[in-house]
Amino acid sequence: MSKKYETPLLDELEKGPWPSFVKELKKAAEKNEMAADELGQLEKSYKTKLGYWKHGGIVGVRGYGGGVIGRYSSLPEEFPNVAHFHTVRVNQPSGWFYTTEALRMICDIWDKYGSRLTNLHGSTGDMILLGTRTEKLEDIFAELSSRGWDLGGSGSAMRTPSCCVGPARCEWANIDTLEITYQLTQEFQDELHRPAYPYKFKIKVAGCACDCVAAIARADLSIIGTWKGDIKIDQDEVRKYAEGGMNIQEEIVDMCPTGCMSWDGNELKIDNQECNRCMHCIAKMTKALRPGDEKGVTICVGSKAPIVVGAMLSWVIVPFMKVEPPYDELKELIRNIIDWWDENGKPRERIGELIERLGMRSFLEYVGLPPVPQQVKEPRRDPFWFFTEEDIQKIKEREEEEKKTGQYKF
Ligand code: SF4
Ligand code: SF4
Repeated sequence: MSKKYETPLLDELEKGPWPSFVKELKKAAEKNEMAADELGQLEKSYKTKLGYWKHGGIVGVRGYGGGVIGRYSSLPEEFPNVAHFHTVRVNQPSGWFYTTEALRMICDIWDKYGSRLTNLHGSTGDMILLGTRTEKLEDIFAELSSRGWDLGGSGSAMRTPSCCVGPARCEWANIDTLEITYQLTQEFQDELHRPAYPYKFKIKVAGCACDCVAAIARADLSIIGTWKGDIKIDQDEVRKYAEGGMNIQEEIVDMCPTGCMSWDGNELKIDNQECNRCMHCIAKMTKALRPGDEKGVTICVGSKAPIVVGAMLSWVIVPFMKVEPPYDELKELIRNIIDWWDENGKPRERIGELIERLGMRSFLEYVGLPPVPQQVKEPRRDPFWFFTEEDIQKIKEREEEEKKTGQYKF
């Protein structure tokens, strides 16, 4: 029988109609001493407003530099069962598809070696198994790997790539997100398991700009499915939406971010040259609008949550690229991108921060991508225009002339 703690503060978090992690913790605590001590320590943290987890020491499994995050209690005498409370990251299948059998297998392993507590899924995408002791790690790894599982990335490494469910369940998928993610995971095995970078590097793949994996906000490299050419319109279906009560002017046309749509009460028109493939109209009028047939990806770099500096969103570097298995072109581009960052990045500097520091121009030159208008994030400020010596000479001459005449051209 596990030790029982009084938890008046945590009990408050069980109230209300929503699911409660406290309820789950208590269930685990009935059968597991680690979970029970975790409950006790957490209640103490709520009471004193202090955290009692400390990082420290490198823990892991033989041959891998990542996949396990070491965690220790700073109150081991008071809560001896969480003196070690390491986290094991397990590489999730693309799109988070599991059979019940697979989930039971993971739970059985975790019942045997850990706290019974899990977090499905962490923000990178992995299955997170919370709380085990150092001496159990090799056994856990042996059990997982002998059943076809592998650890995910952690530390200054390529993190486990993740993706939306894509074509497996979603009609808007412009690309096979699952296959791309699987292929990239296989390609970067070494980089995933042996941290050698300045900091973490996350890849996320979304089938369309709805971006259900938040690639644009959370990935160093975002791969977003898109299309070339015209959005396909079924005008009869558009009219049915209008007859059904949709205010097409207000809900669709006025909300198009590029203002490229018009509606005369009978026909919907799109100036496809101006459309930025945001998916708003298609997501609202599923039966009437479809993406064009020529599919590919937009590639963006540089988003991150706020850690060293503030949060950043992704920046387009390739507006459109066709991708097909085995995705060689994509893999080569990713390797070039990482090379530049690895060469130039300071410790704990994400690629987006490095681009801010050294400039998009330096990045594009190294990676071998041409500057194109779609890369412009902030007009009149983006600093990567490629001036030649001749251009600079002309600018100087113009400035001289402006000074002399007092007439300014810009
Ligand atoms: Fe579907 Fe797009 Fe969401 Fe992927 S990102 S699940 S394709 S809506
Ligand atoms: Fe406008 Fe977005 Fe629809 Fe393109 S996809 S027409 S930008 S709402």
